[in-house]
Amino acid sequence: MASVGWYDILIIGGGSAGLAASIFAARSAKGRYSVAIAEKQPRVGRKLLATGNGTCNISNSAAVMKRYHGNHPEFPQIVLEGFSSEDTCAFFESIGVECTVRADGRIYPLCVQSGAVLDCMRLEAQSLGVQELCELNVTALHKEKNGFRLATGGGKLFSRVVLICTGGAASPSLGGSAEAYSLLSASGHTRTPLFPSIVQVRTDTQYIKSVKGIRVDARISFMRNRERLASEKGEILFTEYGLSGPAVMQISRHVSDWERRKQGKMTAVLNLLPDMNKENLMASLRRRTIMQGRTMGDLLTGLLQKRLGQTVLRAAGFHDFNLPVTALKDNDLVRIAAGIVGWEIEVTGSQGFGSAQVTAGGIDTDDFNPMTLESKLVPGLFAAGEVLDVDGDCGGFNLQWAWASAYAASKAMIALLDTEK
Ligand SMILES: Cc1cc2nc3c(=O)[nH]c(=O)nc-3n(C[C@H](O)[C@H](O)[C@H](O)COP(=O)(O)OP(=O)(O)OC[C@H]3O[C@@H](n4cnc5c(N)ncnc54)[C@H](O)[C@@H]3O)c2cc1C
Repeated sequence: MASVGWYDILIIGGGSAGLAASIFAARSAKGRYSVAIAEKQPRVGRKLLATGNGTCNISNSAAVMKRYHGNHPEFPQIVLEGFSSEDTCAFFESIGVECTVRADGRIYPLCVQSGAVLDCMRLEAQSLGVQELCELNVTALHKEKNGFRLATGGGKLFSRVVLICTGGAASPSLGGSAEAYSLLSASGHTRTPLFPSIVQVRTDTQYIKSVKGIRVDARISFMRNRERLASEKGEILFTEYGLSGPAVMQISRHVSDWERRKQGKMTAVLNLLPDMNKENLMASLRRRTIMQGRTMGDLLTGLLQKRLGQTVLRAAGFHDFNLPVTALKDNDLVRIAAGIVGWEIEVTGSQGFGSAQVTAGGIDTDDFNPMTLESKLVPGLFAAGEVLDVDGDCGGFNLQWAWASAYAASKAMIALLDTEK
């Protein structure tokens, strides 16, 4: 809908950060300032609805700095310290969403429903008088003497201060787009290279295809040439194209980063029995070789899922499954054990922004005040959420950044308007 309007605070982007910011700002304004959200899609919060597969992993009780990344990894510290995961729970409880902290630190709404989180946020925003301007794509932003003039698909808006919460390029079907960065880059802000994070990984599929659909609790490491870049233990899912599952997605940003640089060879190394030590594994393999009547096809049955065991044997060079296990020599067992704890699979890339949950890279945080999230280049212009070059690990860290940055920017916008009174 085309629209013309004048506001004290205009938030561009009605996603997680934008919605939260509208509530924080309207609460602090106590009716003194008008607050509006411009959202290009027909509805606000579409990506929020998809979070946690519809369950919304709202935060994490261990939202510490090492879980965040960017060109300036220290940048989010002040903002995250100013709004902790406890503050997130208190905020959501204040709008009717009870939270629960799981043993692994992940925080969810008790009702495990992202739709309920969005409903409660919208109800609160409405009750505070926040105006939702949907189907309003902001295409340009011009600084004027007393504020900003914004060009949209249909009409013009004016606002005294502006908060950019346009998100990242991940998941275009949910509103992700690289275009919105230009709202900031047009006024001189730098954008760091973008690459997908929390994303599935494509590999050589020669052996992977035959274990499609199998899930294992294993350890995965990504190696560039022989250098170990990252390692994670947890669930891994074998797919048609390569590897998925929480453990893979958690460290996938290393693959996308390598993919854009195109330097060296990337390998995934799988340890399929991370909780078994070498001696116990060798002892188990030796026991198997004295089991009468068994052939290679069943050597690993009972140790690994049968189809997976056979695939590991093939990848280690054992193709004759009719061979009696009694024919195996100790050096064969050493090779097989090495295949089980160090199965090397060539990585070819990531599944891209279309499947990614988060964008790594974004607007360079060097251009923003780390306390207020106000631009150092354009006074009165603020940014929060994924549009900035801050990305978190999988586990509620990205939403925590969205809430915390929305809080910091809202507080600072109100303080700025108060000084201008
Ligand atoms: C499938 C999926 C699952 C996820 N699960 C989790 C999870 O469980 N926990 C977690 O912490 N994180 C999760 N994330 C990541 C998390 O959703 C994002 O990091 C977070 O939503 C970012 O908030 P944001 O407000 O910055 O951006 P968004 O929520 O993406 O909102 C940006 C909004 O801006 C709008 N917009 C863009 N450009 C314009 C413009 N020019 N004019 C007007 N409007 C515009 C977009 O339409 C969009 O609505 C998930 C992401 C995906 C895709």
